[in-house]
Amino acid sequence: MVTRHLILNLAANFETHQLSGSVELHLERGDTSGNELVLDTRTIEIQRVEVAIDGHPFAPTAFRLDSDDPAFGGALHVAMPTDADRVRIHYTTSATAKGLQWLTPAQTAGKSHPFMFTQAEPIQARSFVPCQDTPGIRATFDATITVPTGLVAVMGAEAKTSDRERGVYTFHMPQPIPSYLIALAIGDLTFKPMSGRTGIWAEPVTVDAAVAEFEDTEAMIVATEALYGPYRWGRYDILVLPPSFPFGGMENPRLTFATPTVITGDKSLVSLVAHELAHSWSGNLVTNATWGDFWLNEGFTVYLERRIIESVFGKRRADMDAVIALRDLVEARANITVPRDRTLQPDLTGRDPDDAYSIVPYEQGALFLTWIESKVGRQAFDTFLRAWFDEHAFQSATTAECLSFLRRRLLEQYPDLVNDAEIDEWLHTEGIPSFAVLPSSDAFERVADVLRAWLGGDEQSLATEAPAWTTQEWMHFIDALPRNLSGAQMTELDTRFNLTHSHNAEIAHVWFRLAIATHYDAAFAAMERYLTTIGRRKLIVPIYRDLVATAPGRAMAVRIYALARAAYHPLAQATIDLLIAPGSATS
Ligand SMILES: [Zn+2]
Repeated sequence: MVTRHLILNLAANFETHQLSGSVELHLERGDTSGNELVLDTRTIEIQRVEVAIDGHPFAPTAFRLDSDDPAFGGALHVAMPTDADRVRIHYTTSATAKGLQWLTPAQTAGKSHPFMFTQAEPIQARSFVPCQDTPGIRATFDATITVPTGLVAVMGAEAKTSDRERGVYTFHMPQPIPSYLIALAIGDLTFKPMSGRTGIWAEPVTVDAAVAEFEDTEAMIVATEALYGPYRWGRYDILVLPPSFPFGGMENPRLTFATPTVITGDKSLVSLVAHELAHSWSGNLVTNATWGDFWLNEGFTVYLERRIIESVFGKRRADMDAVIALRDLVEARANITVPRDRTLQPDLTGRDPDDAYSIVPYEQGALFLTWIESKVGRQAFDTFLRAWFDEHAFQSATTAECLSFLRRRLLEQYPDLVNDAEIDEWLHTEGIPSFAVLPSSDAFERVADVLRAWLGGDEQSLATEAPAWTTQEWMHFIDALPRNLSGAQMTELDTRFNLTHSHNAEIAHVWFRLAIATHYDAAFAAMERYLTTIGRRKLIVPIYRDLVATAPGRAMAVRIYALARAAYHPLAQATIDLLIAPGSATS
């Protein structure tokens, strides 16, 4: 039995931090469907379950809920009479549901209204909707969401009706999507259009800055369509979340969820939008069949992201992004303890896929595709990609299916350029293959010259060039500084460029890491403020990791985390709990 459509009817309770109501599943029964439907749930309370044959009234049915497995939650077994193809489940989510984050007004940008958002990827949809929670099954949906007066509900779907007075919002999602793309947010939200099909949802205090930052979104869609075919989802809007959002972005269809930490005033971090937009082709349109095939979503998307950035902002910018990402890949890999998680194909048997989450599928996957492009040429590779998306649209694919398509449609035309042993190495090596094509950046080479000159006592080039640097050039400069800079050198840089108090979350991030390494304690109060206001894992986890490497740093990390933890998303809490837990490694 496979779900083809869902009807959600949920009310949000901001006092108890719960969603309650019902979901109706419309099922397609195969010949071999038995008398039991098994659904995924996690920490959900089930009140009752009803079944029906399409067009007939619902009647109660027997059900049994397994106890929660730490990795996967509890299976819900529903007795299905012969021919029944409708199931309705009445339920309430838990206040600790892993896929929901409830924010107090203090944790929002506007400080006056509470906020709630979902994060279903990879397997958190089951904590707010009992469902077949696998990327291999796609369904359309309708939804009715009831919220407290004064708040607005948005979903990754078409908005149908909104009644602000009564707080009732209805939605329709016409394109079939896997469960991990079901998305809902509720808050003090307002909308501003950017083009006929793009716009920003955000808190009123954030919306204008977001519109200015992301105004090139339409140009990015046009560039992507020229490369990889039509955008097939209707609208493309961006929801700017409060700073505790644990990710950079989440590619919820029609409505990307985005961290506000990329709003810098100079559009230097809009590659995040390019990334989430690219998922409208790789991931949302052609979906990894299992979480073990995650690189099909993310490796393809990073490759597309760089191509969009190159197309809209130029090669110089795309090269800088790629070099920074390569450095992040090498560092992230060194911190992965399960060997297979360092490869493109982690072993997820018995594990919550989020426990294996890293940037390896993103950047190693993109390096793999870049290498193929270098072999066959860009034009042939673009033709292949376009066919991959067109011919697998609204389907799921495994790694084996992708490789077979790659061989059949591209590599067989170039029999001597790529061999199976090389492809195997890309998939299974724990490092970067020696034959990879690595990115380089002329802009960063210039930054390195300036850095060498400054360390050698020549102040002039830094003084003249640094004021015009982009975020990426600053990140590269700070990252490349020796970890044994003197207090006087740190003070000089800080006094001249105000780095401790940078409003740019990426620059502040690399500066705080340097401050920890050089014991520059003048930055620590600002770092504490940073860690207690931002919840994006990529920005906070490396800082905690650096801190716990020494005993005094660990003490500081424990103290700050005690203050910060409640404001972090459950996924970020789970990651940092492991770092901070007594007895965890200090290296
Ligand atoms: Zn992604």
